[in-house]
Amino acid sequence: MLFALLQYFRPWRLRLIPIVLASLLEMFFNAQIPLSVKFMIDRALLNHNQHMMFLILGALATSTVIVSVTSMARDYLYAKIVAQIIAGLRLRTFEHLQRLSMDFYARTETGDVMSRFSNDLGALENGLAAGVAWGLQPFLDLLLSVILVFTLEWRLALIGVLLCPLCILGPGFFSKRATAASVAKQEQESGALTALQESLMAPSVVRAFSLQDTLIGRFRNRNSMLFGASLRLGFITAMVERSASLGTLFLQVVVMAISGWLAFRGTISIGTFASFQALFVSLSYAFMYLAQYAPNLVSARGGAIRLEELLAEQPDITDVPSAAELTTFRDAIELREVHFSYTGERTNLEDVTLRIPRGSSVAMVGSSGSGKSTVLNLLLRFYNPDRGGAFFDGNDLRSIRMHSLHALCGVVFQESFLFNTTIRENIALAKSGATDAEIIQAAKSAEIHEFITSLPAGYDSLAGERGRNFSGGQRQRIAIARALLRNPSILLLDEATSALDPSTEQAINATLNRIAPGRTMISVTHRLRSVVHVDCIFVFHQGRLAEQGCHAELLHLNGLYAKMWRKQAGVQLNDDADRATVDAAWLNELPLMRGVRLDTLEQVARWFGTEQFNEHIEIVRQGDPGDRFFILVRGKVEVSRTTDDATEIVAILHDGDYFGEMALLSNQPRNATVRTLTPCVCLTLPRDLFNRLLATEPELRDYIRKVATERGAA
Ligand code: ADP
Ligand code: MG
Repeated sequence: MLFALLQYFRPWRLRLIPIVLASLLEMFFNAQIPLSVKFMIDRALLNHNQHMMFLILGALATSTVIVSVTSMARDYLYAKIVAQIIAGLRLRTFEHLQRLSMDFYARTETGDVMSRFSNDLGALENGLAAGVAWGLQPFLDLLLSVILVFTLEWRLALIGVLLCPLCILGPGFFSKRATAASVAKQEQESGALTALQESLMAPSVVRAFSLQDTLIGRFRNRNSMLFGASLRLGFITAMVERSASLGTLFLQVVVMAISGWLAFRGTISIGTFASFQALFVSLSYAFMYLAQYAPNLVSARGGAIRLEELLAEQPDITDVPSAAELTTFRDAIELREVHFSYTGERTNLEDVTLRIPRGSSVAMVGSSGSGKSTVLNLLLRFYNPDRGGAFFDGNDLRSIRMHSLHALCGVVFQESFLFNTTIRENIALAKSGATDAEIIQAAKSAEIHEFITSLPAGYDSLAGERGRNFSGGQRQRIAIARALLRNPSILLLDEATSALDPSTEQAINATLNRIAPGRTMISVTHRLRSVVHVDCIFVFHQGRLAEQGCHAELLHLNGLYAKMWRKQAGVQLNDDADRATVDAAWLNELPLMRGVRLDTLEQVARWFGTEQFNEHIEIVRQGDPGDRFFILVRGKVEVSRTTDDATEIVAILHDGDYFGEMALLSNQPRNATVRTLTPCVCLTLPRDLFNRLLATEPELRDYIRKVATERGAA
C-alpha cells in the first residue's frame, strides 16, 4: 500500500534526499533531549560539575537552532513536492476527461466524476501531505528510541517495548470506526449538497409549483441525518485521541514503576531512570502518531485507486495514426447499414442507410426517441456505429482526423450552452484566433449584432452562469453565430428552435433560411411546416429509417409522414402566434368524433379557445377534476403517470397531438399529469361550452352519449 503511494514521488526522488537528511537530523535531535537528561543528572547535577552543565546546555541550544532551520526548510520542500504532485494529477485528470469520448459521459454520473476530482484527490493530498511529519519522522524517532532504550538497559527496554502495542489498542479500535463514520458523514454531506444543487438549478420550478416547503422539509430530514453523522464522527475522533493518550499514560506509569524500582535498588543510575521516562514518552508519542496516520494512508490509497480508475478509462473514439486531414467537402455524407446501441441493451439505430449530398438541405423527423439525434451523433462521430459505417466523401469517418471533420461542421443544439464569460469569447470559442471582424460578421449573419451592440458593455457583456443573462432566443442566436464563425460547409441543427416561443422561432427560422444557401443543412425538427421545402426528409420510427423523400413524395406515399402531416396541418397558428385554429377534418380523426358530420364539426371547431403556456408548467395534474380538452398546437409536453411506487413518463407529445379528451364526457379526475417542456400554444374546449353545443345539436348529443356509454362500459 505504501509502495503504491510512493510511486507518486518517483519524478521527485532527488528532491527527497535533503528531506530525508533533514528528518535524520531531527531524529538525532529528538533523541538528544532524553539522553541529555541522563548526562545532566549523572555527570553535571550529582557531581556539581558546572563546566559539564554549560557544555550540555550549549550543545542543546546550538542543535535546537540548527534543527529549527533545517526542519522548516524540509517542511517547505516537502509541501512543495506534494502540491506539485497533486497539481499535476489534477491537470492530468482534467485533460483526460476532455479526451474521453461521449460514451463515457453517457454511462457516467457527473457526481461520480466530481467526487473523484474533489474528494478522492483531496484524500490523496491529505495522506501525502502528512507523510513526513506523521509518517517518516515518527518512524525514525521510534527506530532510534528503541535502539537507545535497549542500549541503556535492555531488560527494562524489552518490557516497555512489549507493552507499547497496548497504547495503540484503543486508537486501533476507534480509528476503524472513525473511518466508517467519516464515510457515512461524507455520504450525508453529498446528499445535502445534491439537495442544495437541485434547489439552485431550478429556482423557477420550485416557485412555480410552490415546492419551497416540501424542499425545506426534505432538507430538514437530510440535515438531521447529517447532524447525527457529524456528531458520531466528532465523538469517535475524540475517542481515538483520548484512548491514545490514556494508553501512553498507562505505559509511562508502568515504565516508571519498574525503572523506579530498579533505580531504588541501585541496579540503574538515577540519570538512566530519568532518561528512560523521557525516551518512553517520545517513543509512545511516535507510536501514537503512526497509529493515527495509518487511516489517512488507507483513505489516500483508496482515493488513489479511484483516481487511477478514472485515468485508466480509454477513449473509444481516437484518431488512428494514419488518419487523414479533411480540408473540403466535395460529394456526400452517408450512413451505410448502420446498427448502433448506446448501452448494448437496446438497439437505438437499426439498419440505417442514408445519403446527404453536398449543398442539399435535409431534415430528420419522427417522434421523440426515434433516433434522430443519434444519427447526428454518428455523423459527427461522437460514437462509432456497432455495424456498418459513416462515410464522408466515401471515406470512413474512422480514417479521418476528428478535429478536421468538426472544423467543417457547425452545430446548434436545442439548448445552447454559453460559458460564463463575454459574448465575444462565447462566439470566438468556435475558432481559435478569430478576429473581431469575423466575430462581428458571424453575429450579423445570426442577426444578433444589433442586440449585442445595444448592450452597455457590447461584445464584452457577460453571459452569466449557463448564459442566464440572455433569453432563450438570444442564446440560440449566439450559438448560431458561434456555429457560423467557422463558415461551416455543413450546418447541423438539432431542434435548434423548438425550445423557443413561436414568434422567436419564426424569426430564427427565417435567419437560418438566409444563411442556408451554399451550405449543407441537416436539421432535426418536429415542426413539419418548417421543412416542406427541403430536398429530402428522412422519417424515423423506432430507430429505423421508415420513409424518405421530398414533402410531395412522402404525402403521396400516404404513410407515416402523411399521417404526421395531417395531424400538424389540421391545426394552425396565425403569424402573431396568439390565435390558433383547428380544421373540422382534424376533429374528425378523433375517436370521440369519428363519424360526426363535417358541418357539425366546423361548429365545434369554432368553440375552441387559444391558451399559451410557458415552459415547465403543469397544464394538467393527475387527480384534479378534468374540465377541458386540449389540442397541442405548438410545443412539446411530457405526459407522466404516478402510481403508488413510481412516476413514469408515458408519452412525449408534439404539435398536432391532443390530450384530456375524457374531460368532454365527464369531470372524472385526470389520469395523468401533463407538463410543458417548451413554451406551448394549445387549443382548448371547456366541457360546459361543449355541453351547450350538444344542447343545440341533438344529433351530436346522441352520438356522444353513445360513445360515452361505450367508454364507460369498457
Ligand atoms: P430523438 O429522435 O428524440 O432525437 P435520440 O436519438 O436522442 O432520439 O434517442 C434515440 C434512443 O436512444 C432513445 O430511446 C433514447 O432513450 C436513447 N438514447 C439517447 N441518448 C442516449 C444515451 N446517451 N444513452 C443511452 N440511451 C440513449
Ligand atoms: Mg433528439
